[in-house]
Amino acid sequence: MNHDRLPRIIYEWDASLNTDAWARSVEFILQYCNMLEDVSNHEPMSESATDERGLVHVDLDAVQSRLKRLDGEKWWLAAADMQKLRTFKEIFDDQDYKGIVYTPLNRRQRSLVIKLKIGILSLGLEKGRFTNVPLEYRLCLICDDDLLDNEYHFLLYCEALVETRSKFFGDNTFLEDVEDPTDPAELCKLLLNSHNLKKTARFLEEMYRIRQSKLYG
Ligand SMILES: [Zn+2]
Repeated sequence: MNHDRLPRIIYEWDASLNTDAWARSVEFILQYCNMLEDVSNHEPMSESATDERGLVHVDLDAVQSRLKRLDGEKWWLAAADMQKLRTFKEIFDDQDYKGIVYTPLNRRQRSLVIKLKIGILSLGLEKGRFTNVPLEYRLCLICDDDLLDNEYHFLLYCEALVETRSKFFGDNTFLEDVEDPTDPAELCKLLLNSHNLKKTARFLEEMYRIRQSKLYG
């Protein structure tokens, strides 16, 4: 932006105050996005970024998307140490995040799907956290396989729920599309994508109902 432009004069005056004022915030954001160079040059950086009045345009969409990306990277880094998000990290699909919002589900189904996705469904693995049961003892109590009672075991492998699961898998040929059927995360992603979520939610509701009745009668 040219030196004699009023916004530039105000920006430089504001910045010279050495307070946490508007100019500092703008500078901080642009620096964080590694875009400060682009707008602080005395001469306009390029023809394409300058309009006929000589104003340099900051691409706010680019700033927003860079902020989102940087924030996302920071979150995933922090999430690496969050045991609770074990399944969420594996089944998260950034191309399909709208499914849970737009798929018409009843209250119970929506609650179960969300709890499953973020790892707070009341399974042995999660409940054991509150009673200090060592991880290796948080086993499934409705089958005899002595396997960890986690999201994958419950939804895909528990022998005590094989009847309901077989019927669901048999009725839904979309499950044949999964590239690696031995990869539980891939299977869950397919089950939970927006095309299949409605059916999966019904299946999950039924599976959870049977599980609870086997546990508590
Ligand atoms: Zn089991």
